[in-house]
Amino acid sequence: MLDRAYMSLPKKTVTGERFEIPDVDSHIQGTKTIVKNFSQILKAANREEKHLLKFLTSELAAPITISEGKLLVSGKFSKEQLNKIFGYYFKQFVLCNQCHKPDTHFIEMQGVKMLKCSACGASYPVKRL
Ligand SMILES: [Zn+2]
Repeated sequence: MLDRAYMSLPKKTVTGERFEIPDVDSHIQGTKTIVKNFSQILKAANREEKHLLKFLTSELAAPITISEGKLLVSGKFSKEQLNKIFGYYFKQFVLCNQCHKPDTHFIEMQGVKMLKCSACGASYPVKRL
């Protein structure tokens, strides 16, 4: 009985798991674009809100505010545009350029901002915002 129960447990794949950047859930309201799942994206990025906001402000060239976990951008932006910009952020500042895993964090070395990967040990300089 016990053996059978054990056998039928679903196998968990630990390796080869692909990290997915959350899809932007946004809509345009009046003259603003609202990203409803901003807090979820921020959580997936595991970065300081300040850093992501700085990046978005310069990429979108628009004032941004946060309200109740939602991102409010002045101006009208399509989901495609936003997905592209968030994707760019993850590529540059979250995903390791060696192993493509998101297990990374920023370190500072001799005044240079670097991305350090805990999965494969790679570290390389990143752009300062
Ligand atoms: Zn890595």
